[in-house]
Amino acid sequence: MSRRAVVTGGAGFIGSHVVDLLLADGWRVAVLDDLSTGNEANVDASADLIQFDVSTSDGWLSALRGADTVFHLAALPRIQPSFDDPVGHELVNVVGAIRCVEACRDAGVRRLVVAGSSSSYGVPRRLPTPEDEPIDPLSPYALQKYAAERNCLVLGERYGVPTIALRFFNVYGPRSFSERNPLNAYSSVVGIFARQKAAGTALTVTGDGLQKRDFVYVTDVARANLAAAISERPFGVYNVGAGEPISILELAKLFDHPYVFVEERQGESRTTWADISRIRAELGWSPEVSLVEGIEYGEAEL
Ligand code: NAD
Repeated sequence: MSRRAVVTGGAGFIGSHVVDLLLADGWRVAVLDDLSTGNEANVDASADLIQFDVSTSDGWLSALRGADTVFHLAALPRIQPSFDDPVGHELVNVVGAIRCVEACRDAGVRRLVVAGSSSSYGVPRRLPTPEDEPIDPLSPYALQKYAAERNCLVLGERYGVPTIALRFFNVYGPRSFSERNPLNAYSSVVGIFARQKAAGTALTVTGDGLQKRDFVYVTDVARANLAAAISERPFGVYNVGAGEPISILELAKLFDHPYVFVEERQGESRTTWADISRIRAELGWSPEVSLVEGIEYGEAEL
């Protein structure tokens, strides 16, 4: 019998790639998404799309009924807007996660995989950064992502819902660019550069461009979600990155196209660099797509 998954945020960038991988792996998949930043067109026709707001209490149980695994990716995932509306972001990012784990308990779900974020480390003292690095969020969003994963782990343990939190680093790849969220996340700077190059405009490098990011290709992130879903380990927290940072300036140079410098953003770390030894050892996952390959795929997509 095929396994049944619910993917919250499955109409979004990362969630839709998780959906694609699960379908390819023979799962039956339902997507819960309010389409606020996501897009119906991202959802494969063989998945069921249910328009649903994760922050509300109603309808969770029937939405999860029959699912053995839940991937909770729904969130308002941008740093800068979380400063403008911290309460609205809290409701989706934290309350939504709590409602999700409660519903997993009620529906008898056997595995919850929840999306965390490398932004929760703030300015890490250790590079590469291991999972036991102190949490020191620099934005409401970063704090909320930590609260979400911690609530899922603590409540999951109490409720008997095995839960794995994955801390994604800077994810890039097809569908990262949303018309509703343009130009406001490092996560999509690879996609932004690809679009700027295709449009014949200069690439916009923020600050001095020497800030480094650990870019991980979105299909690799989807594979990490699947690895967490099928793991025998009941609970855990894992970094999901390439394990190799690159500066934004070096990234711009890889595009072989003119660039200009624009104003720096507040509330972001200088360097992100994942220590991925734990996920390699415990979930048997490692990244497969190099940055050069990932950029080529992205440019071919435009
Ligand atoms: P995204 O905006 O493309 O996807 C988020 C999805 O959640 C969208 O489809 C959106 O419509 C949906 N959503 C938002 N509010 C909702 C609500 N109230 N109810 C139901 N659905 C709602 O962003 P993404 O980059 O794919 O992010 C997916 C997850 O990964 C998020 O949890 C994010 O915090 C996390 N993450 C992303 C990155 C990255 O580099 N992109 C890095 C770290 C963590």
